[in-house]
Amino acid sequence: MSMTEKLKMLDRRDFTSLYAYPDLDKELGGLVGLICGDCLGVAFEFHSPNDLPHAEMIDMVPPAGFNRSHADVPPGTWSDDSSQALCLLASLLDRGKLDLDDFAGRLWNWMEFGYLAVDRQVFDVGIQTERAIRRLQDGISPERSGGVTEMDNGNGSAMRVLPMALWHHGSDEELVRDAHRQSLPTHGHPRSQVVCALYCLVARGYLANHPSPWEWADHRLESIYREWSANDGRDALAAELAIVRDFRIRSKPNGSGYVVDTLWSAKKAMESDTFESVAKASVLFGNDCDSTAAVSSGLAGIRFGLRGIPEVWLHQLRGFDVAESIVEGMIDHLRNHRRTAEIRS
Ligand SMILES: [Mg+2]
Repeated sequence: MSMTEKLKMLDRRDFTSLYAYPDLDKELGGLVGLICGDCLGVAFEFHSPNDLPHAEMIDMVPPAGFNRSHADVPPGTWSDDSSQALCLLASLLDRGKLDLDDFAGRLWNWMEFGYLAVDRQVFDVGIQTERAIRRLQDGISPERSGGVTEMDNGNGSAMRVLPMALWHHGSDEELVRDAHRQSLPTHGHPRSQVVCALYCLVARGYLANHPSPWEWADHRLESIYREWSANDGRDALAAELAIVRDFRIRSKPNGSGYVVDTLWSAKKAMESDTFESVAKASVLFGNDCDSTAAVSSGLAGIRFGLRGIPEVWLHQLRGFDVAESIVEGMIDHLRNHRRTAEIRS
């Protein structure tokens, strides 16, 4: 590569500049995959699958004449899914642990002031999330601000949880506990917590190149719950895990905003064998396209790596400047951990 080409590359401030960290291809792939899936789905969300273009026409820029959602939002702009995921990651990196007050404060800052939103424009807020943030503003603690009825199981806490798995170096049990807790500010029902935990374990399985990450995560979660006491909510969590599993057997994934459907729709999409086809398959379920695609594409990004994401999509993503310092923080965090682990071994 000539010096001019190198300088040109350095000057190109977009997500492809993360190619400079090939040792973190899976972790960066996960984070950027989530963002990329979210951005891809934004224009198509709320449409039924029958109203969507064919797979080859699903792209960051929707085909001409398509009645796109959020028509005033430029293509390549992420929505609530990525903003909240970045809020979680920024909080974990700043605090060095899950600090629910800090995290909830960032969610509030996002909804009210566009913190970690591209152009500071907030255009896609879930009903349960908005209600919960209003409760935070009324002085309710983040442990209790999220809805706790069965109807409060939208995918709002699962769509953002992936950074927890990317950041975490604790035991599987500690990861499960933190995945649960990060759900509370907006989604307090145990079903949402179980899906967040299961999804984080699946992500950990992909990070470790496990041959069957979904099966491994399922068994792991069951055995973790089994060891908990009744005070930990063991019985309720085990019952919810049974409901989550049952959906997979009895229902067809259809990309709705129901957290359990989102998880299994993402798993179905992950049967595809490239990042691009996973992301498109997620959008093609219709309905909550951006969140389904965020959840599946985060995993696909881990599986196929940053290099597996179409380069043209990385160029089309907006908001690199918004995410850059947080991504750099994640790179430092992961490299420091590796260095420490090497010294110890
Ligand atoms: Mg969204």
